[in-house]
Amino acid sequence: MQKTDDTIVAISSAAGKGARALVRLSGPGALRLAAGVFAPSAGRLEELGGFRSVDGIVRISVDSGEALEIPGRVYVFRAPRSYTRQDVVEVHLPGGSVASRSLLEALIAAGARQADPGEFTLRAFLNGRIDLSQAEAVADVIHAADETRLRASLWALNGEVQRRTGRSAAAITESLATVEASIDLAEEDLQLAKPGEIAEALQGESKKLRGIAERSLHLPDATETPTVVLAGRPNVGKSSLLNALTGCDRAITSALAGTTRDVLSAPLHLPGGAVVDLLDAAGFGATDDLLAPESDAAAGNAVARADVICFVTDADDATADAELLARLRDANPSAPMLSLRSKCDLAASKRKDSGVLFTSATTGEGLEEVKLRLGELLHLETSRSGDALGLHDRQRRCLQAAADACRAAANLLADARDIADVAELAAVELRESLRHLGGISGQVVTEDILGNIFARFCVGK
Ligand code: GDP
Repeated sequence: MQKTDDTIVAISSAAGKGARALVRLSGPGALRLAAGVFAPSAGRLEELGGFRSVDGIVRISVDSGEALEIPGRVYVFRAPRSYTRQDVVEVHLPGGSVASRSLLEALIAAGARQADPGEFTLRAFLNGRIDLSQAEAVADVIHAADETRLRASLWALNGEVQRRTGRSAAAITESLATVEASIDLAEEDLQLAKPGEIAEALQGESKKLRGIAERSLHLPDATETPTVVLAGRPNVGKSSLLNALTGCDRAITSALAGTTRDVLSAPLHLPGGAVVDLLDAAGFGATDDLLAPESDAAAGNAVARADVICFVTDADDATADAELLARLRDANPSAPMLSLRSKCDLAASKRKDSGVLFTSATTGEGLEEVKLRLGELLHLETSRSGDALGLHDRQRRCLQAAADACRAAANLLADARDIADVAELAAVELRESLRHLGGISGQVVTEDILGNIFARFCVGK
């Protein structure tokens, strides 16, 4: 685990040119370090109160011995009323990476440490300003692929995951207290509650937790744009499909088998606003000429890292291409596969094959369905109601495990004559349930899990 008592620094604005760049410091030395490179137009920086800003000049000595003087503005947030609950200083500079990079290097030379990805948010979590579900939502808001996912992430950022699961955690804790007390009171022949009543309450909580998981919107762990690859033998119509689906003229279509050499790609807009990269792995099925090995390698790579494989065959060609299918599976065993039959406008008869979509790049038939299916396979469907919470698989697993343990305790109690008869076992299950809920709030979480979660962040957040 990183230290939290030193001062970290990072460029918090996006790379590239912009109106402003932002370098952020957090930690006990934030004000002192900023004061070393910044001359305010009036007063002393160290005396500036929280939520205050001041114009001035950023002065950095560079290797040549000269000093760079850059006009800037500094914002001060005093502990504990800041994002990290530590002293935070933001230096705003004219946009462009040279000025912000020079400032970053000067601050590191003066004793600040380059922040790791997500380390500002990690400090906010470790210092108790936000819980883990909110910390995760910070990255989700940044990476939201569409409006639905943004809304779902904003709910979580506002603490809704904790509010909903927290109510169940409180109810389970109360039941646990009763169950544990009944162990002590067993000797005295006192009954605090009827086992059936607690069982019923716990069944209710278990259902609620399961419901939250089931109604949630899937949030991807990966932060990159999902990729979908079109794979199939030469001339089955992959390039034409790429053009027709994306509306771009990226691929060269030709009646000559094997015309497309490179892996072409174009952005594909799915219903609901999500954008994925659609790739044409043309060389994958082409093995019959000299260029094949190189294009095969690039195409194999595209197949291997695809999130969904569209296996394209000609609707008129009934022969099942088992060999190519096996090679695709070999290259990427885990990605879901969508079977497309192309050129269906030419096909003499359309067999009703379940799980197969008939498409035509010429007439547009089936293309909207392809986009809908891709949205489903990538969990980018937008059919969830506006109040769906965005959850990651890990959080969903925690909810399900908490619900299972809660139900196990309920079942034990439902069959008991007296709470004390099953109290020890029921208490174990209830503690287990609370432990899993603690994995969502961050009360019970290992360093590995934290490492995985914060790996999704960018530096400076
Ligand atoms: P690729 O090698 O798999 O990329 O195949 P192309 O997209 O280059 O298409 C091969 C040939 O089939 C070209 O002559 C296309 O015009 C034709 N073709 C592709 N899609 C369709 C379609 O949906 N209907 C018809 N009628 N022809 C198509």
